[in-house]
Amino acid sequence: MIKKYIFITGGVVSSLGKGITTASLASLLEARNLNVTVMKLDPYINIDPGTMSPTEHGEVFVTEDGAETDMDLGHYERFIRTKMSRNNNVTTGSIYSEVISKERRGDFLGATVQVIPHITNAIKNHIIKCGKNFLITLVEIGGTVGDIESLPFLEAIRQMAVDIGRQHVLYIHLTLVPYLLTSKELKTKPTQHSVKELLSIGIQPDILICRSHYVMNTYDQAKISLFCNVPEKAVISLNDVNSIYEIPKILNNQGLDDYICKYFNLSVPLANLNEWEKVISSLNNLKGTINIGIVGKYVVLPDAYKSIVEALKHGSLKNNIKVNIVFIDSQDLEKNGIDLLQKIDGILVPGGFGYRGVCGKLIAIKYAREKRIPFFGICLGMQLAIIEYFQNVLRIKHAHSTEFFPNCIYPIIALIDEWQNFPKKKIIKKQDCNLGGTMRLGNQKCYLTRNSLSYKIYHKDFIFERHRHRYEVNSHLLRKNNLLQLIIAGYSVENQLIEIIELKNHPWFIGCQFHPEFSSTPRDGHPLFSSFIKAAYKYQISSKIL
Ligand code: GLN
Repeated sequence: MIKKYIFITGGVVSSLGKGITTASLASLLEARNLNVTVMKLDPYINIDPGTMSPTEHGEVFVTEDGAETDMDLGHYERFIRTKMSRNNNVTTGSIYSEVISKERRGDFLGATVQVIPHITNAIKNHIIKCGKNFLITLVEIGGTVGDIESLPFLEAIRQMAVDIGRQHVLYIHLTLVPYLLTSKELKTKPTQHSVKELLSIGIQPDILICRSHYVMNTYDQAKISLFCNVPEKAVISLNDVNSIYEIPKILNNQGLDDYICKYFNLSVPLANLNEWEKVISSLNNLKGTINIGIVGKYVVLPDAYKSIVEALKHGSLKNNIKVNIVFIDSQDLEKNGIDLLQKIDGILVPGGFGYRGVCGKLIAIKYAREKRIPFFGICLGMQLAIIEYFQNVLRIKHAHSTEFFPNCIYPIIALIDEWQNFPKKKIIKKQDCNLGGTMRLGNQKCYLTRNSLSYKIYHKDFIFERHRHRYEVNSHLLRKNNLLQLIIAGYSVENQLIEIIELKNHPWFIGCQFHPEFSSTPRDGHPLFSSFIKAAYKYQISSKIL
């Protein structure tokens, strides 16, 4: 069967939830037994978001195959079963870099290399490559229609309809229908203008999804339909909701999946939304409330920890316990002390880069260890848990990471090249070090130690989890010590790299070098997050009794 493509553009303003809407629609089509994947085209010049600050661009989502991608790919994986890969995210930077290398190699045989057709051809090739094994590929175009930078992407998706046939291509435009407080009404004009802008590029949207604070009435829907040349049935109202996981059902209730299946002439079963209904029912039946503190330095933008926040919510669903997430700026802990950790039932120290905020994180870890509060350290959080233990329990005051102190005399955390040759350190000059694409990335195999808490949680001899870091636990130095209560609960294949640590004399203290948050989904959760939430609940009950 000829492959189908659904292109999703955004209008009026950014931050309308285009990624989540795209992911929800994909889940709805998946629920109709269709083989779908989702792709994101990002208009920025960076080759990938790996080098971008999380406080500016949100989290970097890592795929199983080790690509550093836009955080929207995290939404896609949380909504559908198809796993994302490096094929599912391209940026203007990656497209230009590819075309320019080809030009340098002489692949264009003397032609003048231009945006049309060379850049647009490269974009189309990537879309086709991504959708190779799928019947339907949903393609989200980053940015807002009218931006200069997304023009080549819009031109490429316009051409796709000519290349493969208009009936195999569907354009969805997501717009804002604002509510005016003074006149107490929803306004459709910005949507009309946005569609006009799309038309000027040669794209007539087939479906409009209108984001609004309130549900739109049929009068507004009819008006948009008339002015934007879209059938009334294809004007979908998407109002603000309590949980993003309600969106597949909301779209289904308005017949969006039916409309799309009819458009593509697909005869498939009705959507089976049982699993999503279960998620919604758990959401509506959460009991109690536990406070989980995320101690980090990117807390000014909660999107910087998006997958962790979602994974905690999934853990909440699995335990039927409401989770209140408290963002704690680790630098505030340095200034104001541990008062900020009162009333916290579980402490999570997430991943991070650079020295800022490290002292505050060490304070939080020490507090969790001593007060027996459930502690979850992820990546940098695990590295710091080891540093804290070496400094305060094993009394090795100089233990630290070469990320923060390059000449540290007890580098318990260091670059692998540094500690493999320890004590003869290889000096890596900063200017020799490329920051893009120089990390241990993606799925890696980890063996679990029998009798460890992690083994009990996973019920497996080995697991695969995703990594994103440069530094490693220096296992040469680690093994020289009597580690007392510290145990190695997970290690890599060659037994060289430490993947999970635990404390024997603590109810729940786990640090992992990998990022379990990337593989947690609302339907399945993640064993470590579910167990952490359960432990925090137990801690809350026991601390109330005391
Ligand atoms: N900065 C640390 C490293 O590069 C940890 C990275 C992370 O937490 N993702 O190893």
